[in-house]
Amino acid sequence: MARAAVPGRLTWRAATLAEARRETSTARTLVLDVPDWPGHLPGQHVDVRLTAPDGYRAQRSYSIASASSDQSQIELTIQKLDDGEVSPYLTDVLEVGDQIEVRGPVGGWFVWRESRPHPVLLIGGGSGVVPLMAMVRARGQSRAKQPFRLIYSVRAPEAVIYREELPRHVRDDPGFDLFLHYTRQAPDGWPDPPKRIDVATINSHGWPPDFTPDVFVCGPTTFVETAADILVALGHDPKRIRTERFGGTS
Ligand SMILES: Cc1cc2nc3c(=O)[nH]c(=O)nc-3n(C[C@H](O)[C@H](O)[C@H](O)COP(=O)(O)OP(=O)(O)OC[C@H]3O[C@@H](n4cnc5c(N)ncnc54)[C@H](O)[C@@H]3O)c2cc1C
Repeated sequence: MARAAVPGRLTWRAATLAEARRETSTARTLVLDVPDWPGHLPGQHVDVRLTAPDGYRAQRSYSIASASSDQSQIELTIQKLDDGEVSPYLTDVLEVGDQIEVRGPVGGWFVWRESRPHPVLLIGGGSGVVPLMAMVRARGQSRAKQPFRLIYSVRAPEAVIYREELPRHVRDDPGFDLFLHYTRQAPDGWPDPPKRIDVATINSHGWPPDFTPDVFVCGPTTFVETAADILVALGHDPKRIRTERFGGTS
C-alpha cells in the first residue's frame, strides 16, 4: 500500500505573511504562517526562496527569531542591505497575504537545548541578535534557570532590534541580563564611548572562562571572528564557543 508522503526538512513549503512588524527603520519582523511546520530549536534557521514572475529564483538563509511554541507560525527578522537582492524585498515589498517559500529547520550545531545545565553567554552583532533572541524567548517561555547574558553590539541606539521586548526579558526573566554595546554612537550619558567590540568589552561584560559558559556568537563574519578570537585569548574553551556567520563585514 502506498504511504502518503510526509513533508521533511528539505521540502519547500509555502509560507504566507500573516503579520509584519517594523523593528527599526531598516529591520522588519515577518510572522509567517507555515502549515505543518515541524517545530524547531532556538538557533536554527530556514532557507527562504523567492520566485519572480519570469521564473528567476533567489535563495537566502534567515534565522528563526521565534521560540518553537506554535506549530504553524515562525518569525524571521530581516535587516535590509541597501544593495542587496533579497533583503530589501522582504523588508519593503512583501505584503500581508503574499507567499514565499521556506525550507527547514536547518542546523544542529548553533542551537541551545534547555537540557544543557550551563550558563549561556550570547554575543550578537547587528542582525546577529536574531537567533540569540530565539534562545532568550525559549528560556523565558520555559522558565529555565540557567543564567543568560546577552552582549548586543549595535551601531547606534536607533539600530537596536527588539528594543521594547529586550528590557521586558530583563525585568521578567530572573537570571537574564543584557549589555548593549555601541560602535558608532551611544546614548547621552552612556558610560562607554562608542568603539568596535574588543578585549575590554568581552572581559568586562562577559563571563570568565571558569564560569564554563556555553557561548553563542552571531553576526557579520568579521564581528564573529573578532569576538571568537577574543574569547579564545581570554581562555574560553573553543569547544564551548559556537558561531554563526551571516556574511559581510561589521
Ligand atoms: C545561517 C544564516 C542565518 C542568517 N540569518 C539572518 C537573519 O536572521 N537576518 C538577516 O537580516 N540576515 C540573516 N542572514 C544573512 C542573509 O542570509 C543574507 O545574506 C542577507 O539578507 C543579504 O542578502 P541580500 O540578498 O539582501 O544581499 P546580497 O545581494 O546577497 O548581497 C549584497 C551585498 O551585501 C554583502 N552582504 C551579504 N550579507 C551581508 C551581511 N549579513 N552583512 C553585511 N553585508 C552583507 C554582500 O557581500 C554584497 O556585497 C543569515 C545568513 C546565514 C548564513
